[in-house]
Amino acid sequence: MGKTIRKSVTCDAMLGKLARWLRLSGYQTYYNSREDDTALLDMCIRSKTILLTRDRELERKARKLSLDVILIKSNGIENQLLQLVRNGFEIKKEPSEALCPICGSEVRETDEKEISSLPQKIRLVDKKIYICSKCGKIYWEGSHWKKIRERVEKIEYKLQNSRGKRSS
Ligand SMILES: [Zn+2]
Repeated sequence: MGKTIRKSVTCDAMLGKLARWLRLSGYQTYYNSREDDTALLDMCIRSKTILLTRDRELERKARKLSLDVILIKSNGIENQLLQLVRNGFEIKKEPSEALCPICGSEVRETDEKEISSLPQKIRLVDKKIYICSKCGKIYWEGSHWKKIRERVEKIEYKLQNSRGKRSS
C-alpha cells in the first residue's frame, strides 16, 4: 500500500513541538518560527493548509479570511495532540508514513551498512533505521518510537476515558 494522502497544516511559531509530531505522523507541516501573522496567513491561503495556532488574534484573522483554523488550547503536547485527535487527526504509532520532523521531507528505511556514524549500541538494540532524504537525519525505531507509542497510548486512554464520562 502506498502512502495515504493526508491533510496539510501550518503551525504558528508557538507550536514547534506539535509540528514535529505532525510530521512524524505523516502530515505535510509548514513551520517556520520566524514568520509573522501575515506570512502565515498567506501561506494558508496559497497552500490551502489548516492553520493551527495558540493565538486568538491570529485565529480571528484567519476566520475573517474563511481559512480552516484550529485554536490550540493547551501548552502541553499531550493535550494538544488530544485536541487534534478529537478534530479528526490521526497520530501514528508506527514510522511507516513518517516525514522528517526537522525538515518535513520523506524518510526511507536504510541499514547500518549505509550509515557509518551510527553509535554501536543502537546497531545492537534496534532493528529498523530510517534516513531523511533531504537533511540526512537518522531515526531508529527503538528510542524514537518507543516514546511515541507510549505517548499515543496515553492519549488514546485519555480519549476513551473522556468518551466514557460523556456517555454515562
Ligand atoms: Zn529532514
